[in-house]
Amino acid sequence: MSESNAETAPAVSGPSDFIREIVAADVAAGNNGGRVATRFPPEPNGYLHIGHAKAICLDFGVATEFGGHCNLRFDDTNPVKEDVEYVDSIKDDVRWLGFEWHGRELYASDYYEQLYQFAEELIRKGLAYVDSLSPDEMRQHRGTLTEPGRHSPYRTRRVDENLDLFRRMRAGEFQDGAHVLRAKIDMASPNITMRDPVLYRIRHADHHRTGSAWCIYPMYDYAHPLSDAIEGITHSFCTLEYVDHRPLYDWVIDAIATEPGRRSPGEGGPRQYEFARLNLNYTVMSKRKLLQLVHQQHVNGWDDPRMPTVSGLRRRGYTPESIRDFCARVGVARKENVIDVGLLEHCVREDLNRRAPRAMAVLRPLKLVLTNYPEARSDEFEIASHPDDASLGSRTVPFSREIYIERDDFMEEPPKKFFRLAPGREVRLRNAYLVTCTEAIKNAAGEIVELRGTYDPATRGGNALDGRKVKATLHWVSAAHAVDAEIRLYDRLFTAEDPEGAAEHAGGDFISQLNPCSLEVLGGCKLEPSLGNAAPGSRYQFERLGYFAADPDTRTGAPVFNRTVSLKDSWAKANP
Ligand code: ATP
Ligand code: MG
Repeated sequence: MSESNAETAPAVSGPSDFIREIVAADVAAGNNGGRVATRFPPEPNGYLHIGHAKAICLDFGVATEFGGHCNLRFDDTNPVKEDVEYVDSIKDDVRWLGFEWHGRELYASDYYEQLYQFAEELIRKGLAYVDSLSPDEMRQHRGTLTEPGRHSPYRTRRVDENLDLFRRMRAGEFQDGAHVLRAKIDMASPNITMRDPVLYRIRHADHHRTGSAWCIYPMYDYAHPLSDAIEGITHSFCTLEYVDHRPLYDWVIDAIATEPGRRSPGEGGPRQYEFARLNLNYTVMSKRKLLQLVHQQHVNGWDDPRMPTVSGLRRRGYTPESIRDFCARVGVARKENVIDVGLLEHCVREDLNRRAPRAMAVLRPLKLVLTNYPEARSDEFEIASHPDDASLGSRTVPFSREIYIERDDFMEEPPKKFFRLAPGREVRLRNAYLVTCTEAIKNAAGEIVELRGTYDPATRGGNALDGRKVKATLHWVSAAHAVDAEIRLYDRLFTAEDPEGAAEHAGGDFISQLNPCSLEVLGGCKLEPSLGNAAPGSRYQFERLGYFAADPDTRTGAPVFNRTVSLKDSWAKANP
């Protein structure tokens, strides 16, 4: 399903931001020899979402703009939650977004042996110790925001004792939770992260890459800075929740590199910088919650077109260009905020308006029989596929005696502002003819089942020679030539602007805020014949209805389309 974007070199360089200013200053000062190396470090415990896309655009974008490189490194330190399915999807998604990583993809697990040796070094330097408190006791010793922590009774273990225990932890002599390796920093630090953080824990679990080779696994706060250091990363970008972890990031690198506290700005080596994560209204973004939506089958998988995942957006019909444009417009800031999901929709609308070929489809068909049109005849119209881009060519659209129009383009007793079809009224069938409705045929229940009308043969192409005007132009499909299709319409997955907040307010779970009408599946939709062989992933504007993308469920002769977005741009209207 992954589609190549080789021809579309990513243009992510948005306006400058505080991150780019820092990098530019480092390059100008010759820090790290003027070199720029970044990394994108996903944990393979779920699919990437639009928030990750923001991080990807930053990590890869900065590297490209400053002539450096960006590594794709899987932060695979928790064997219990990780899986190769996620690794593969992440690689697919990064490529689809239009980015190439430097060399082969990397894994924190590549460094397990090195990280272990570093840990022994910390023990020998007296900077780490094996603690044997239970998790509960450790919590009690940790203190609070207002009270310092207390020393564990095991904090004074001798180096040889620590080394022996740590080696036996590795050898598998102990059960999960029996011991941990902790950094010896400062139990009275006002920053709780610095109160002797855990570096290693025992986990008798198979890892998706290292199998059963290890039963101790490094913690993120230990593995991450060292992986950065090993790879020669210069700028390590992460989201704001890691601000409190930065002193630990520096401590770990300093402790291994030289002596603690010796590194000063400009001295080189990796540095962490935090930026505000992307939040979107009407959306939940945490992987844990997305996983819950998938596992509890509130959606049809990670790539359900209602999901904020990269694969969901792709299936929905989003282009990589539109997502990159969105990330550039959102920008990189130091303060958290919530972005209107309407901006994301605006970006894809703008992109598809430029690029998507036009076609006609009728979602809820109502037949119109043109009684003065000969039964055996049919017309063909050659219609340009795009109003402004001739390179998209044209297609042949047949016309015949029986035409489908949208059910809601007709009203038997139209109110004042309804200008579309009604008995006795003339409208234009787009690019074809002017037609007049003469009669609405009803079934026994009084429902309209068919319309009768006439066409004016002198209006071929849709314009009257006598210059008379009609107020409405309808899209249509020739019944004899129509291709039947399934079309899936989407609405927001959550009804509340802030699903988590609303749930909390109502005393429930975010699941309670799901929109019960987020998916509407229409069968028996009618497409113009040029759409019969639409390739999965191909995108169109269906005249008057919005942008649509052929779903991977499409089969030859049986297309399935997802509506990417309607034509109505609420965001542009609110932000003129
Ligand atoms: P989540 O909180 O959704 O579970 P995570 O941070 O645990 O995400 P990782 O796989 O660790 O997921 O994230 C990889 C990178 O993407 C990290 O550098 C992280 O800071 C960044 N990232 C994650 N979520 C967002 C977001 N909403 N906006 C911007 N960057 C994000
Ligand atoms: Mg994370």
